Order: sequence, then structure tokens, then C-alpha cells
Amino acid sequence: MRVLVFNAGSSSLKFGLFDGDRQILKGSFDRFREGGCDVAIDGHRGRAPHGDLAAAIAAVPGVLAERGHAAIDAVGHRFAHGGPDFTGPALIDETVIAAIEAQTPLAPLHNPAMLQAMHLARSLWPDLPQVAVFDTSFHLTNPARATTYAVPAAWRAAGLRRYGFHGTSHKYVAHRAAEALGRPLTDLRIVSVHLGNGASACAVQFGASMDSSMGMTPLEGLVMGTRSGDVDPGAFGFLHRQLGLDISAIEAALYAESGLKALAGSSDMRDVEDRAASGDADAQLAINLYAYRARKYIGAYAAAMGGLDAVVFTGGIGENSASMRRRICDGMGFLGLMLDDDLNRAPDLTDLKAPQIQAQGSRVAVIVTETAEQLMIARELRELLARPRPLPRAIPVAVSGRHVHLTADAVAALFGPGYRLTEAAPLRQPGNWVAAERIALEGPKGRLERVAILGPLRPRVQIEVSRTDSFALGLDAPVRDSGQLDGTPRVRLIGPAGVLDSDGLIVAARHIHTNPADAAAMGLADGDMVDVEVQGGGSRGLVFGRTLVRVSPQVVTEMHIDTDEANAAGIAGGAEGALVQDVHARPVA
Ligand code: AMP
Repeated sequence: MRVLVFNAGSSSLKFGLFDGDRQILKGSFDRFREGGCDVAIDGHRGRAPHGDLAAAIAAVPGVLAERGHAAIDAVGHRFAHGGPDFTGPALIDETVIAAIEAQTPLAPLHNPAMLQAMHLARSLWPDLPQVAVFDTSFHLTNPARATTYAVPAAWRAAGLRRYGFHGTSHKYVAHRAAEALGRPLTDLRIVSVHLGNGASACAVQFGASMDSSMGMTPLEGLVMGTRSGDVDPGAFGFLHRQLGLDISAIEAALYAESGLKALAGSSDMRDVEDRAASGDADAQLAINLYAYRARKYIGAYAAAMGGLDAVVFTGGIGENSASMRRRICDGMGFLGLMLDDDLNRAPDLTDLKAPQIQAQGSRVAVIVTETAEQLMIARELRELLARPRPLPRAIPVAVSGRHVHLTADAVAALFGPGYRLTEAAPLRQPGNWVAAERIALEGPKGRLERVAILGPLRPRVQIEVSRTDSFALGLDAPVRDSGQLDGTPRVRLIGPAGVLDSDGLIVAARHIHTNPADAAAMGLADGDMVDVEVQGGGSRGLVFGRTLVRVSPQVVTEMHIDTDEANAAGIAGGAEGALVQDVHARPVA
């Protein structure tokens, strides 16, 4: 399948043509101005007569035809902002266009050019499927603690929250890093550091973004070419009172007159590094501040994830500036991160390689790789179009009360050596049962009595509670998939014969167990995230977003939610869920 990918901005248009994962054309029209723009096609640079985005897009079919690539199968578009509902790529139709337009106030500088490009592309290729891929989607897995600003409720109701950007880049480099390490992404805690004209860091915990440094807008976080990154919001009132600046002047300066440009007189890191090397104190401060801010975020995310397995550098600066990587990594030995200076000096990034540049004995891997957002957009488009339409099919919903899975050692500690649990009743999943015995859980705030034990025994203790239970215990249980227990809180388990302090306390992420045959019938694959509408009793009912699909042989298809979720949906006895059609393609609201 040949996929044309557009990344449109107000002053430039980048595009790429992909045949599978192979890029067969790379082009850009840049710096639109009266009478023309700069053009680069497959590395050949020149001038072109196109003075704006519309003229540049109109020229693309000619560029393709000249190179014998007129036949294309689909068009992908990068969008900066998809708001809270686009959890993945969307097949563009009138509903999707309206939903994207509704998000424009959140990305007034970015989405309009992207929308314009999409409209023009739809008129040039009216019969081709066109797909929107959003920079924000990857971060929609962030927990509320990472997305919420502590501001008045009315502001939050108006849409003030953290989103995060560069998601396509962070997702791509995290996958690429896992591939380079030869380990499943779901086992890794990665900080992805994208340092280009825009810059952001992202905590990718076991395959999902859990926090990122850009916030409601792409202004928050790291120092950038012309953007400020973090600034005390109290400064804006001060600027207004002292300098008489209004909000729009302040905002414009934070986007376009700040960052490296403000500190060192150039937004281009190569210039700043040259000036610093020739003794310019402003440039030296800019570089120190740039590296310091990035280092702070890496440390913060290591703490947020409860550990760190890899740091990945990407973006023009992350890929090319050995000295910036060195400055950022220096002093992180306490985290087990050490660079190898020779490997860091000139890593080979050709053909999307992802070399490791950490020193021997470094516990944390350090990887450099070129970001390939357009390739990722082409991949996501292909996956979306290859996905069969799910058939509507009822999924039984099971409500899990608080329970524990124990190891043989834990049973011995709680019930006495040699004790065997009594299988009281089978569960719906073959081979699983609930024990007759109960235990208590105790945290710093309170105690939960008569907690169920589920069998069979496991290699690691796992304690599953609801969010409400975790507050009752006084502990902060993270939402996790079963088995992902690293860095989870400790809780006291109390049995008739003894106590056991164990980590493994989680709020289980809602999920659907299904077998390969049912998965195929529903058009689902292992690891998919789907939205499921559940009809509760009375006037309640709920669409459960981002529900993980877990496919394995021999299981009975069943959705598992916890008691908080069941209460919210008004579910008492048995209930059924239905897949929301085109879950990856449409906002749920
Ligand atoms: P991007 O937005 O990813 O294209 O990155 C642009 C940034 O990368 C600019 O600040 C460039 O100065 C910077 N950059 C590109 N090459 C180098 C290099 N060799 N050394 C330092 N910075 C570089």
C-alpha cells in the first residue's frame, strides 16, 4: 500500500510517500513568502513559485507524477490536537472533520493549517481514504494525576487540562528503543526525550505514555527554540502590571520570542553551541539551562515510573548534538545511567538505526535514533485500514470485587506452613477458582476485611482493589494491567496464622479476555484498546473508554471491571457490553 503523508504548518509543508515501511519520496516546501518558497525533494534543494500552503499542496500531484509515483492508495495527515476523545487515528469523514474543528481552540497555531491541508487533499484525491493521526492520542493513557491542573473546577470544566504533544514521535522512538534492546516494550520504563525546535520529554511506562512535559499547549516543559517551556504562571500578572503587556502579547512572546532565541539570540542550537564555544556567556547559560531542564524531567519521570530502563534521544538536537546529550546525562550516575563518550560522539543513525551509547555496566540504556513521525503515521494508517469492522456482539461483563492472588510462600506465611487453600467455587475462566478462605488488608489509613483469594497460585503476589479501596487503605494504587507490578505499593496482608507485607497493590485496568476465534469475529487483536458501551440498570450506563483487549487460547470472552466502575455504570447483576463501532476512528462523545 502506498501512503502519502502530509505534515502541514502555516509556513511549511512536509510530505513523504511510503510503500509499506519504505520511504520512497521525501519532500518539503518551506518558508512560504510573497513569490515563492524553498523546496527540497529527496535531498535536492531549490526555489519554487508557491507562496502559500494551498499552492504547495496543489503542486504535490505533479511532484509525484514526475517521479512515477502518481498511483497512491491513501493519504495520512498529522494533526497537533485531537482533544480528549481521539485515542487513535481516525478515518476522515464529515463527523471526524467536525470533531477536529471543535478542537481548534486548543491548537490555534497548528490545527488550522493541518485542516486546510486535509480539505485540499480531499479535493485532490476525493476517492482515497484519508486518515488523521493526532500528536495527543498517545498521551491519553496518562493518569488524571498527570493531566490535571490544580485550578478552579469551572476552568477544568471549560477544558483546561494537560494533553502532551509529540505523541507520534514518542511512540515511534519508544517502540524503536524496545526493538533495539530486544525486549518487549511492555517490560520497559523509558524516558523519550525529543529535542528539536519544539522539545518535550515523555515517560513511557510499560508501553503507555504516563506523563509528558508539554501540557495543555506545546508551551509547557523543556526550553525550546523559541518557546519558553515552564514559567511560573504568577509571572503573567507581574508582566501585565509592570510592563503593561496584555495576554495576547505575553502569549505571542512565550511562543515566538522565548527559549534559545531569547536567551542566546538564535533559536538554532548549532549557532548557540558555536557562540558558547567562542566564549559568549549568554549562549553558555542557554545551553546550561537547556540541559538542566531536560535532566530534571528525566529524574522526575524516573521517580514517577518507579524506575528507569532506558533514555532515548531524538529530534534535531537529540540526534545530532553529542555535547547536549553528554550535558544532560552527566551526573545521572546515581540513577545507574552512564554514557560511553566514544559511542556518544558520532552514533550511526542511517537507515533508522537506534544505537546504544551507554557505558559498559550502565544499568540504564541510552539510545539515539532519528524520529520517523511520517513513517509512524503511515503505519497507523495502514493498521486502521486493515482492521475489519467489528461486528456488534454482546460481551458479558464481570465485576471483580477486591481480591488477591497469592504465591505458595504467601499462603504459608498467612495460613501456616504446608497449608492448602480450599477451592470453594469455580470462576468463569477455566481453571480459576475462588478460595473459601479470606484475609484482611491493612494500610496506613485503614483495613479491609474478608478479602477474597483467587486461585490458582501465582509466581508473584498481586492485590487488586478499587480506587475507593485504595483510599480506604491510605495507599496510592496505580492502574495497571495484571502482572505489571514493578514499583507498586506495599500493603499488609493479614491471615489467621501470620502477616505478610507485600508489594503488588494495583487497581486492575479494565480489560476484555477473549479467545482467538471471538477476537477474529469482533475484529480485535491482542493489545487493542477499545471502547465498550455497557447498559446498567435504571437510567445509568456508561461507555468505558480505553479497555484493553487480551487474547489468549481457551479463555471465555468476558469484560472485567471493578466495583467502582460497576457502580458508576449502575450495574448490579449480570450486564453486557457492546463494542462501540470504529472505536479507534471516532470520538466517543
Ligand atoms: P528539528 O526540529 O527536529 O528539525 O530540530 C531542529 C534543531 O536541531 C535546531 O535547533 C538545530 O540547530 C538542531 N540541530 C540540527 N543539527 C544539529 C547539530 N549537528 N548540532 C546541534 N544541533 C543541531
